[in-house]
Amino acid sequence: KLYNQVQDLKGSIRVYCRVRPFFPGQPNQLSTVESIEDGTLTVHIPSKNGKGRKSFNFNKVFGPSASQAEVFLDMQPLIRSVLDGFNVCIFAYGQTGSGKTYTMTGPKEITEKSQGVNYRALSDLFLIADQRKDTFHYDVSVQMIEIYNEQVRDLLVSDGTNKRYPFYHSSNKGLSVPDASLVPVSSTLDVIELMNLGQRNRAVGATALNDRSSRSHSCLTVHVQGRDLTSGTILRGCMHLVDLAGSERVDKSEATGDRLKEAQHINKSLSALGDVIASLAQKNSHVPYRNSKLTQLLQDSLGGQAKTLMFVHISPESDAIGETLSTLKFAERVA
Ligand code: ADP
Ligand code: MG
Repeated sequence: KLYNQVQDLKGSIRVYCRVRPFFPGQPNQLSTVESIEDGTLTVHIPSKNGKGRKSFNFNKVFGPSASQAEVFLDMQPLIRSVLDGFNVCIFAYGQTGSGKTYTMTGPKEITEKSQGVNYRALSDLFLIADQRKDTFHYDVSVQMIEIYNEQVRDLLVSDGTNKRYPFYHSSNKGLSVPDASLVPVSSTLDVIELMNLGQRNRAVGATALNDRSSRSHSCLTVHVQGRDLTSGTILRGCMHLVDLAGSERVDKSEATGDRLKEAQHINKSLSALGDVIASLAQKNSHVPYRNSKLTQLLQDSLGGQAKTLMFVHISPESDAIGETLSTLKFAERVA
């Protein structure tokens, strides 16, 4: 609550961590997570005497038993601020299998209880808009894009063609938007339908052997325009919900050809994102937005008065400790 009141007028960067539970039926094993206390996560680091450990600080840490509802509760102020005319970016970062899509969208079979951030954010948005209907009129529209190998693809074209959008344009409203379908929506149901279309289009681009979703960034962008019914003042806010490509390092000796190219694009864009957020956190005057398609697209929504939430995900298995540490180091840098 304090966060909303104190920081409403300036931008902010928050970093949360979420630890995935072990998979059901997975043989019992020791978690890399030793403890979670308030915002501090302590992990075991295997060493010769077996006692290595390191602690990392976050604005918030969610353990393996945190529910989707609990996780969303902390994001609600951000949703409200979109309707107040602020720009918001929510990122899910982590290695493949650490729970990014679970947080942003949900599991494969989504129930009401397991709905992820994007469903909850949209239903909250419509709920709050409705509560304000005597004073504001809101128009909401969405875009869904995928960035793969530094190419932007529109996921809301109904024929599923792989039309590629080389760049984005600056709208006459002074906000740059990706040059991709912008679809008006008036209910959560509309959005669910569009998200299903986006998922289907995403699958069209994937070959049978390659689950491309782990190697591309997908971004659901919600544009909100509110008109104050008495003064006529127009407020504009937008929210980007980004499920990032898997952060795992690819073994250079093993990857060749397309796989190597993909890995290089992912490394480049994730480190460009890290550089942007780190320089915003340090209040540097130069912010290197130009180094990747993702940061170019989100430029207007990162920095300034915009609010950023970086959600890093870690897997509990001890054999993932290498990737877990590299994820935690990424988080440490942007915090
Ligand atoms: P990523 O998108 O990072 O590759 P996923 O979200 O697909 O990872 O998660 C991998 C698997 O773990 C999926 O089967 C997912 O449903 C499950 N999973 C992830 N996080 C949780 C969680 N917090 N609770 C229960 N299951 C989870
Ligand atoms: Mg995923």
